[in-house]
Amino acid sequence: MIRATVRVLAVAILACGLSRPLAAQEKVDVATIERIKSEEMNHSQVMDIMSWLSDVYGPRLTWSPNAARAKDWTVGQLTSWGLSNVHTETWDTPAGLGWQNERFSLMALTPVPFIVQAVPQAWSASTKGVVTGPAVALDAVCLDEMKAKYNGKLKNAFLFGGGGESPPVNQFKATATRYTDSTLAVMAAAQPAGGGRGGAGGRGGAMPSELPAICKTQAARDSTATVAAGRAWRGLPFNLMADTSMLRWMQSQGVGAILLADASHVGGDIGTNNGASRVSGVAAVPTVHVAQESIGRIERMVEKKVPVQLELNMQNKFFPENKSSFNIVGEIPGTDPALKDEVVMIGAHFDSWHSGTGATDNGAGSGVMLEAMRLLKTLNLKPRRTIRIGLWTGEEQGLMGSRAYVKDHFGFVDSSGFHPTDEQKKFAAYFNVDNGSGKIRGVYLQGIEAERPVFDAWMDPFKQMGMKTLTIANTGGTDHLSYIAVGLPGFQFIQDPLDYGNVTHHTNQDVYERLQPDDMKFNSAVVASFAWQAAQRDEKLSRPPAPGGGRGIVP
Ligand SMILES: [Zn+2]
Repeated sequence: MIRATVRVLAVAILACGLSRPLAAQEKVDVATIERIKSEEMNHSQVMDIMSWLSDVYGPRLTWSPNAARAKDWTVGQLTSWGLSNVHTETWDTPAGLGWQNERFSLMALTPVPFIVQAVPQAWSASTKGVVTGPAVALDAVCLDEMKAKYNGKLKNAFLFGGGGESPPVNQFKATATRYTDSTLAVMAAAQPAGGGRGGAGGRGGAMPSELPAICKTQAARDSTATVAAGRAWRGLPFNLMADTSMLRWMQSQGVGAILLADASHVGGDIGTNNGASRVSGVAAVPTVHVAQESIGRIERMVEKKVPVQLELNMQNKFFPENKSSFNIVGEIPGTDPALKDEVVMIGAHFDSWHSGTGATDNGAGSGVMLEAMRLLKTLNLKPRRTIRIGLWTGEEQGLMGSRAYVKDHFGFVDSSGFHPTDEQKKFAAYFNVDNGSGKIRGVYLQGIEAERPVFDAWMDPFKQMGMKTLTIANTGGTDHLSYIAVGLPGFQFIQDPLDYGNVTHHTNQDVYERLQPDDMKFNSAVVASFAWQAAQRDEKLSRPPAPGGGRGIVP
């Protein structure tokens, strides 16, 4: 028995010894990391950077003039901090379209004047001056039904999808949250290949129980015709929104505007769904996103047959010349003759949606990356490998900027296989931030178990401050995926959710006041430290499997 106990104990010590020794082997430059933490805690500029990026130069919708103004300021900052090779790289596939809202007001005039809380949909057409018309609850799930019920009756009408119930919006639970130790423990225990964060969409409800006969006939006649796959709450069926034939019919009817609302945002928080489908320039019907509380009031009156007259003035400007966009790049050159041509990158998407100032998505990630570079430069640190920052546009339209950058520099996969470049061989690591301003609590290992002891050691100087979780799971939906797609180690950090997913993500509440300054400072110190560690270690980080099933290259 005793012998057995001793053996178990021995194994435990060994195991702990084994794992710890590996991490122990991983050199941690505690002295430099303490300098980084001290500089950040005492002389942080991250919130000043955030005010410029959001208050002055936000929002930064891809291809918009404001994004270009924000770019010029950022290039100026990087240059003023003494970074090298500060430049922008253009990408133009797919060709884009600049858009910016210049004037907006939506009022109810009858039965009593009140302000309707709303924002334009990205790339929406403008109204022809001020448009006034009735609010109309549309009850149709396909174009033929719409024509049959409303032909000639929709002049200047403000359309919304009827049939919604207004659930009370009192919030008994705090909207902002932090990960608890138990939640982090569950993440740490996750098995490989967890699902990432889902993409956009998926707000549609179930298929209507019974399609109206007229829509069945339409579907039989024209299988391509859109029949509402589901009705977004109080919105028009989403896929109908992308149905240019429906939009053109509405335009021909002289519809005043389309009113969209979604149930997942309350309290004046307005979600703006992905208007990317309009990049192609289908200048159809003016479309706005309306707060739940406003559309609820309008609908309840319409149901009571109390006429509601609305007035909209929405002036948007298109910039067809803005077909291409940019990525912002800058470096701190490596100094080690053997390693200086190898590259460590930190990055985040610079673009944002349009209804707030893009503060948490993704001003927060861009701001942390900028501050991390300022820290490394201010401390006059001379890395062995080159440390490079990459700020991408077009992320909200499908990781367009980071994909273009990776293709230009590291390689691509096409039908003939994987085409890595020489630069790909010299690439050491990429770190991304794109989950709001919440405090970094750990790292997603993206299935690369070999990194666990390395990151575990790198987290040592931050464990007491709450960063101690590693999960083998993946996380998706953002720019580190562009690196993984060409067999390069790309990582995203685990961050406290705060109210990112439920309040600020793609809404009008995405503003400076939703940033947590202490979290932003902490995150800046963590990112600067990880970049430094990756630049200083002898080996590049382990890689995910190369595209086409090749085994990951373990340096
Ligand atoms: Zn984002």
